[in-house]
Formats: sequence, C-alpha cells, structure tokens
Amino acid sequence: MFKFFEENPEILAVMSEKKDGQMKLFERGSVKNRKKFFKKLGMNPKDVVSADVCHGKKVVTIRNNKKKIISKTDALVTNQAGIFLSITVADCVPVLMFSKNKKIIAVAHAGWRSTLKNIIYSTIEKIEKLGGNVNDLKVEIGPGIGQCHFEIGKDVINKFGKYKKFIKIKNEKYLVDLKEIIKFQLEKNGVRKENIKTSKSCTYCDEKYFSARRDKNKRVEAGVVVIGKIK
Ligand SMILES: [Zn+2]
Repeated sequence: MFKFFEENPEILAVMSEKKDGQMKLFERGSVKNRKKFFKKLGMNPKDVVSADVCHGKKVVTIRNNKKKIISKTDALVTNQAGIFLSITVADCVPVLMFSKNKKIIAVAHAGWRSTLKNIIYSTIEKIEKLGGNVNDLKVEIGPGIGQCHFEIGKDVINKFGKYKKFIKIKNEKYLVDLKEIIKFQLEKNGVRKENIKTSKSCTYCDEKYFSARRDKNKRVEAGVVVIGKIK
C-alpha cells in the first residue's frame, strides 16, 4: 500500500492497491474488502467516515463518526482524533492535507472536474474555518493519472481555461498534467512549495493500482484512501 506523511507518525494515511480488492462504496464485495483493509491497519471500521464521491466541489467537516457515508461529497475535513476520513480513487488524484499545529486533517478526491471546480480552495477554506493556517499546511498529492496517460478530447480543452498551459500536445493528443494543476492551485492558495509532496506514480502505468481508464470495466473498481489521527 502507498503511505502518506511517513515523517508524521501521529498520522495514519494510506492508499490501497488492486490486490486489496474493490473498495468502491455500494459495489459488490466492497463492504468485506474495506473491513478487512481497515482492520489490517489497526482501525475500527466504525471509525471510518467515507465520502461518496461524485466529481463535484462539496467539502464536509466531520465532527463525529455517527454518519458513516457522506453522500455527494468529494472532500472531508476533521480535527477529531480517532476519526478516519476516506475517499475512493481510480485515476482521480487523492490530495491529503495536514495541519500539525491545529491537528486538522483533510482528504480531497481531485479528478479533473473537481479540480476545475476548485475543490482544493474549498478544502483549504474549511481547514481555515477550523482554525488552521495554510502556512503550516503539509500536503501530499498521491498516486493518480499522470500526464503520460491523461488524454482529453479537443472539445474539453476550453474547460481548462487558465490551466491550458498544463496541457501538452503530443502526436495530436492532448495530455493534461493534473497533478501539476493541483500543485499550482495549492501554491496559489498560499501552501508553501516546500510543504507539497507529489507522488510520481501514474495509476495507469503502475498496474498495482486501479485505473478506470486502463481497466475499462463496466463496473468501476477503485482503491480507498484513508487518513486519520492516531490518538
Ligand atoms: Zn501513465
């Protein structure tokens, strides 16, 4: 599994691999697979609060673990220890945030749609509402589709507006560097460059991860990203 914030032992944050099985909410086998994965990490599955992602821009602040699934939401934020926040991904980029001073954590599901809707800004806004500050915010951009494989149609290019400079034309293909767009947005919103770490892994290239574009299954299969503060 991929580990985030390895220098911060107070944080447990990981992304599952294909071998851990289907993790997409409401899909066959996912309840069992998720339970097994969370238990293996030493988490109580009851402490996991999951976003049912939809490529939107909604961010929800979690105050307790009563509600386990937050519908139509792409990012979660909390300052409560012992609550684990989760999203699912299959090419979309997971963006994890951690404010050490204020003990706030966040996870965002940043596909291109949510990224263009500025989910990064909305997540930072919620962190600030909890008293966090971008100056001490550490961010990790996880494995997700790389520019090598993120091809878009000509019809979609205009939607990228000011981010067109992150699109490269190669053999008449339009390739988007989504992770760089996210990084650009983070810096634009005040996150320090030295506090941003980006995984080089492309989920399409690296077969240990689920990739919606590569796998092309009728049923979307996805991995889970989970982050929590250990008490
Ligand atoms: Zn690739």
